[in-house]
Amino acid sequence: MYYVPDGTKRCGFYECTECQSRFLDIRVAPKLVCPYCGEEVDMEIGPDDDIPASSESAVLLEMLEGDDVEKYDTLLSLALTGGDYTWI
Ligand SMILES: [Zn+2]
Repeated sequence: MYYVPDGTKRCGFYECTECQSRFLDIRVAPKLVCPYCGEEVDMEIGPDDDIPASSESAVLLEMLEGDDVEKYDTLLSLALTGGDYTWI
């Protein structure tokens, strides 16, 4: 397992609206801070700027349960490493 611990029975499948990364996270929430481009709120934004939008740019696409967790984890981690997974 790449994104979530072995034995995970339920997780969220997310896509970032900023960098289009797709990933799994054991936390299931409507939105998460993207682990790739998301940063904690920038405290150096000047007073002229609007309050920064939520940095939770990754949105839940699907909730995965059971065998799907491992299946998606495998597919996504292979895609991430540039592997050709058409042979699966
Ligand atoms: Zn992102």
